[in-house]
Amino acid sequence: MPATQARKKGKVLSGWTNGHENGWKSVKGIKVVGKKAPRSNTKKKYVYFFGGGKADGNGKMKELLGGKGAGLAEMTNAGVPVPPGFTITTEVCNLFYQNKSKIPTEVDKQITESLRKLEASAGKKLGDRKNPLLVSVRSGAKFSMPGMMDTILNLGLNDDTAQGLVEATQNVRFAMDSYRRFIQMFGNVVLGIEKDEFEDILEHVKKSREVKLDTELDAGALQEVIRRYKKLVKEESGKEFPQDPHLQLRMARDAVFKSWNNPRANTYRKLNDIPHDIGTGVNVQTMVFGNMGDDSATGVGFTRNPSTGANEFYGEYLTNAQGEDVVAGIRTPKSIVNLGKEMPGVYKQLRQITARLEKHYRDVQDFEFTIEKGRLYMLQTRTGKRTAHAAVKIAVDMVSEGLIKKEDAILRVEPQSLDQLLHPVIDPSAIVDVIAKGLPASPGAATGMVVFTADEAARRGRHGQKVILVRTETSPDDIHGMDAAQGILTARGGMTSHAAVVARGMGKCCVAGCESIKVNDEKEIFVAPGNVTVKGGEWITLNGSTGEVIRGQVPTVEPKLTGDFGQLMKWADAVRKLRVRANADIPLDARTARDFGAEGIGLCRTEHMFFAQDRLPIVQEMILADTEAERRTALDKLLPFQRSDFEGLFRAMKGLPVTIRLLDPPLHEFLPKHEQLLVELTELKLKGGDPKTIKEKEILLHRVEQLKEFNPMLGHRGCRLGNTYPEITEMQTRAIIEAACNVASEGIRVVPEIMVPLVSAVSELKRQKKIIDQVAQETMKRKKKKIQYLVGTMIEIPRAAITADEIAEVADFFSFGTNDLTQMLFGFSRDDVIKFLPTYIDLGLLEKDPFVTLDQKGVGRMIELAVERGRQTKKDLKMGICGEHGGDPASVELCNALHLNYVSASPYRVPIARLAAAQAVLKQKAGSAYSTA
Ligand code: PEP
Ligand code: MG
Repeated sequence: MPATQARKKGKVLSGWTNGHENGWKSVKGIKVVGKKAPRSNTKKKYVYFFGGGKADGNGKMKELLGGKGAGLAEMTNAGVPVPPGFTITTEVCNLFYQNKSKIPTEVDKQITESLRKLEASAGKKLGDRKNPLLVSVRSGAKFSMPGMMDTILNLGLNDDTAQGLVEATQNVRFAMDSYRRFIQMFGNVVLGIEKDEFEDILEHVKKSREVKLDTELDAGALQEVIRRYKKLVKEESGKEFPQDPHLQLRMARDAVFKSWNNPRANTYRKLNDIPHDIGTGVNVQTMVFGNMGDDSATGVGFTRNPSTGANEFYGEYLTNAQGEDVVAGIRTPKSIVNLGKEMPGVYKQLRQITARLEKHYRDVQDFEFTIEKGRLYMLQTRTGKRTAHAAVKIAVDMVSEGLIKKEDAILRVEPQSLDQLLHPVIDPSAIVDVIAKGLPASPGAATGMVVFTADEAARRGRHGQKVILVRTETSPDDIHGMDAAQGILTARGGMTSHAAVVARGMGKCCVAGCESIKVNDEKEIFVAPGNVTVKGGEWITLNGSTGEVIRGQVPTVEPKLTGDFGQLMKWADAVRKLRVRANADIPLDARTARDFGAEGIGLCRTEHMFFAQDRLPIVQEMILADTEAERRTALDKLLPFQRSDFEGLFRAMKGLPVTIRLLDPPLHEFLPKHEQLLVELTELKLKGGDPKTIKEKEILLHRVEQLKEFNPMLGHRGCRLGNTYPEITEMQTRAIIEAACNVASEGIRVVPEIMVPLVSAVSELKRQKKIIDQVAQETMKRKKKKIQYLVGTMIEIPRAAITADEIAEVADFFSFGTNDLTQMLFGFSRDDVIKFLPTYIDLGLLEKDPFVTLDQKGVGRMIELAVERGRQTKKDLKMGICGEHGGDPASVELCNALHLNYVSASPYRVPIARLAAAQAVLKQKAGSAYSTA
């Protein structure tokens, strides 16, 4: 995924400082990434042939040929045994959509020419009864979208050619099996008949023949399946199953193009930031058969373990089977190591080829192969998806193996994916009730209520419930449920099954192939060994690192980071320009942040200290006070608490800068809710409660009513509090400076940065600074200690950004409060935006949630303007951001381009920001974004 986003951002940033517009530096470089509409040049090449050791295309042409097409071309050119075929370009996909699902004549002409070439190369002809050519028709976009689009195998079979295949192979069962598979796939993908309808027929015939596995069906039984399938097609589509292979090919090609826009592909693209307008290629390739007997097989593998990153050959295969059997998880496959015993010669060749491919691409390869009667064919190679853990290990290992440079290693790991390394795992000391064990398909721990359908997972997920999606096996249709679930458990399928691959990509915990469980009617899990039943809605916990399925909720512990992680972070730190701080309010968070490499605290929200149970009554006393004197009395009681909090923070940060923001939220947030008070008061009165309590409640209610605001986020908050009640600023400053003096006396360097929130006019900041300076001087005098401190401001109101030159005259630093700045620039209420934002994103009115990823065009420009104006006044003015965007890789990249000094992120996102900041520098240096795909 990173490549798409990276490319987009690369464009943004390279254009970031180009030109001027309305006196502002322009961001004209921002473009929606997508292919330009192809010119209607009739000579243009739309179809690329590969075969016989030579291909028209090559591995660099991913955009035009799709990842699969480019990989096939590259492998063919490298002399790897690849069945011949041709790729219809991704441009044709766009033409298909532009021309209302019609393929231009020129494209058709080129397909016919390539088909002739293919027939000559294979020595077989499409539709020839004697020697029929069979092909696969597969999708393949620039970015891998595993299982999201459609594929058709065995195309070219009809009643005649199936007989021809019998004669050519002398294997009736094989021919009939291929034909029934073809009708089933074509019927589902091209004609839109439900998979289950075919499955029901297959199950019915298996039952009537008293067999369990598909492979146990003999030729006669398969012929019966074919008869029934054809009847089903006639009933459902109103037409006979198409017998003309050329028509089959055209229909299959169009169906693959259409599958680019199916709902699951759309969801996958959205989740993975893949543009919707790049289209898919279509690969038409000579079929080779893994289902021609016990000397035939099909499999998938990785050159290194994609789960742990260990440098070991890894994969699975099935003898006498076709490709989709492995990925669909219908039969549980064998480990690839076993192939070394079953077919040593082929295994050796496979190892040699895949090792060569890894060296050639300088990255882990995920490959597909088929063995037809003892002969090996490679069907695909692509960059292997991996867990974050594996990504870090592989990147570091490949540097020490001399395969890649440190810079490559930094760019190889998706910053966001570090989340997977930093999150809790199951507490090893916890007593757990393991009820079953499956394959450890994707690491981590997940706990949630059992649900059996993707829809239910998505529905409950929307309501904030934690769920584990339990399925016999997953299919691409389940993607929305997998996204919503905390973890995924499947009864069938191997480490490369759909569930395993997709979960790893999502960074979700997954236990796959847990064969001892049975999913009964989407109602309950039955575990045979212990006769255990778990009903829908009950809690289970998954351990994705061991494959254990545990009953109930289990405690988790923080993860330990490996030496590889530390190494990668060291390399990143040496490259990045941005400093990374943390948003932390309590010493524990500050220590976590430091452990994760934070270089200071960028935001301490002091109000979080006010909410603690022992302080809230004092805060309320302060709010209820009628006079300044009463308020000061309450504030005096708060001071020791604040002072000790600040001391804790200063000690935890051991000399690193600590930015402390003065009180920000509207005061009513510290009082009970209006409705709740009304109810309590009414009840008290009805019950004839204690008159003193009633009186107190009445006073409280009155104050709550006084403080009630129509739009509190724009109301009496931020420095408006400190300016109307200066005693609050005084108390907080006193607490900060006293704490600083005390900790400095312990020999620890302390540099407090006092930050004034929600400034819109320089006059507000001036008044606050005056109070702060006065109190600071008094306090230092009293404490007989001199410490250095700074007074800065949040820039989170548009007016402050526009007047940044004036504000910089007073401020020692700026910290962009991008949460409020986003709120105010869009006019979106932070609290209410959720009501319509998902619809906006679905409609494409907004590309992303601007509260997650900084809006470059609006908020980004506003920051750019403020940076420029601020530095006009003070050349070296220190600037950073402390909104939630500080831990978002795309936003970090923007901050780097805007020449900010630091970003401040929540403690767990500090490593993400460090890596993203390093990547930003490397991408900028390269002039274009780096592609890991
Ligand atoms: C901000 O507005 O970006 C910010 C950091 O402050 P808060 O989220 O506390 O309003
Ligand atoms: Mg704010």
